[in-house]
Amino acid sequence: MAVAIYLMFSATDLLLIPDVAAYTIVARFVVGITALLILEEQLRRGVATEWLDLTCAGAIIFGYIGWLCPAFTGADKESVAYYMVFGTIFMMSANLFFTFSFKLSIVTSTIIMFILYVVNYFLPATLTYKMVFATFYVSCFTFTSYVNWKLNGERYNVFLNALEAKIQHREATERGKALLRLSRTDPLTGLENRRAIDEKLRDYWSDWQRLGNGFAAILIDVDFFKKFNDCYGHQEGDRCLIHVANALSDLIKQYDGSIGRYGGEEFIVLTRMDKKERVAELAEAICLTVESLALTHELRRDGISVVTASVGAALTRVQAGAKLEKIIHEADRALYLAKAGGRNCARLFDPTDPQSSDESENIAALLKIAIGQNLVSLVYQPIQDVASGKVDAAEALMRLKMLDGTLVPPSLFIPVAERTGAILELGRWVIRSVCTELLADDHIGVVSVNVSPIQLKTPGFATSVAGILGETGVAGSRLAFEITEGLEMEMHSDVLRCISDLKLLGIKIWLDDFGTGFAGLSWLRLIDFDTVKIDRSFLHACGTQKGMAMLQDIVALVRNRGPKILVEGVETDEQMALMREFGIDLIQGYRVGRPAAAGSFQAKRTTQKRAFTVLKSA
Ligand code: C2E
Ligand code: MG
Ligand code: MG
Repeated sequence: MAVAIYLMFSATDLLLIPDVAAYTIVARFVVGITALLILEEQLRRGVATEWLDLTCAGAIIFGYIGWLCPAFTGADKESVAYYMVFGTIFMMSANLFFTFSFKLSIVTSTIIMFILYVVNYFLPATLTYKMVFATFYVSCFTFTSYVNWKLNGERYNVFLNALEAKIQHREATERGKALLRLSRTDPLTGLENRRAIDEKLRDYWSDWQRLGNGFAAILIDVDFFKKFNDCYGHQEGDRCLIHVANALSDLIKQYDGSIGRYGGEEFIVLTRMDKKERVAELAEAICLTVESLALTHELRRDGISVVTASVGAALTRVQAGAKLEKIIHEADRALYLAKAGGRNCARLFDPTDPQSSDESENIAALLKIAIGQNLVSLVYQPIQDVASGKVDAAEALMRLKMLDGTLVPPSLFIPVAERTGAILELGRWVIRSVCTELLADDHIGVVSVNVSPIQLKTPGFATSVAGILGETGVAGSRLAFEITEGLEMEMHSDVLRCISDLKLLGIKIWLDDFGTGFAGLSWLRLIDFDTVKIDRSFLHACGTQKGMAMLQDIVALVRNRGPKILVEGVETDEQMALMREFGIDLIQGYRVGRPAAAGSFQAKRTTQKRAFTVLKSA
């Protein structure tokens, strides 16, 4: 644009200085075209803006000289004197039109002013004219430079703002990326978390559905990890998980797969494998990898003293109604079998194996109909007072049978009932049955009932118990609730409140299976237990000196706290004698009596009572 305007001024050259117009016009074209050519070449080479500015500044100066010098030689000096006013346009373009840096524009316009002053000096004009002209040039220089300086400041601010916005944008993008990474990463192990691995699972699944690329899901569970945490503390527990995660992640790198933490002490591996043998090989390798870490785990009671893992794997297979969740479910079933098979081993889901049929689902379904179909019942196991030899208490134990009459052990159905929430209704049923079956008459003083933490956590539990006591007319003091310390139960304030409400009803609170978990110690501090039941494993370990000392220590510990002591699992006369020697308050076990249904329990009690009175009177 500047070149075009510069060339257009050829017209004024012709009008004002016709005698030298030919020179000025040639100069205009030479400078204009040269400048354009240089700029074009510079743009092509992609040079820095400073160089383009320098070319423009040069073009202004040469354009100015190219016009002024020939014009000055013109014959009509008066016209030249007026025409020179146009020189300010060059100064304005240097200061305002081109967005030069302040320094460059000042240098350019100063050169222009300097040339003008030289020409002005030699101009055959009056002194007044020269002075007015010089003043005009100086003011033009000052004003345009000032405006240029202001504009440059503003431009700089705009530039800074734009830069800041750019940096902020970049930071926000990076933060977003980091957040996304964080939301997909397990903070402890650095592996992918459940959300990320679920997404991956969907990808694997859709690949399988669309392209037929089979894959395997492998679930890995660290064996007895709760015990590890209880024994070595949570920090060690975290460290153990990190070691396991790193080792597994190194192993999986050799296969085409992904690993993630699925929750707690459970990991998951997804791998594009569709051959059973290869999956079994990897599952075995996982077990071996964890075991060979040789992380000490002394507290487990299965003869192994290092951390191990159980592994369950399942492969994609063509089946009706195939669902994404199914493969995880099947891997979970295989993991269950691995655990049932003694842990530290790997199992592959086998759809043809009847054991793989979903046992827990069957149990869950059974539990739903159990009360209505009379599939649950109660048995009672006597509890003997060691000092008097009298049986004045019993523990109620739940029994569940299948529709064909086979019994399901409590170790199988209680966890399912807890997981599905069925324990709430079953628990109420147990309490009501105990009240009506055994406590309605005065056959026995106290019956203890096992209560799951789920029940204690459920709002309104104490009220429902009060309701049952009211309905059946049984005094609360004849019931004892056993809470198992082995079960995971954080001592929430609502649990503590529920316990104190139950105590207000007169119900006694017993601590069951003491010593099987470490929570028991803190519980002893938090809750005022009436009786503490020491787990039978301690009595059964009394064959060794170490075991005997251990039981003695535990008894001393509990005795110091004040509650009565009941030892579970008394099976032999020797054990009975030992209990007398230790001054234990109460005992329970096959030596005293096996669990029996209410009818036979009462019949046995009547004969025993009679024998007891005969013995006493004799
Ligand atoms: P627990 O409360 O510690 O019950 C004692 C378990 O030890 C019973 O097993 C009992 O049959 C067994 N036992 C008693 N004396 C001896 C003995 O001398 N030697 C040996 N080896 N074992 C003996 P059971 O009936 O299989 O119950 C297992 C667990 O299931 C119970 O442990 C309890 O935690 C749970 N459970 C049972 N009934 C209920 C219930 O109604 N509600 C809840 N929430 N849990 C229950
Ligand atoms: Mg119990
Ligand atoms: Mg027990």
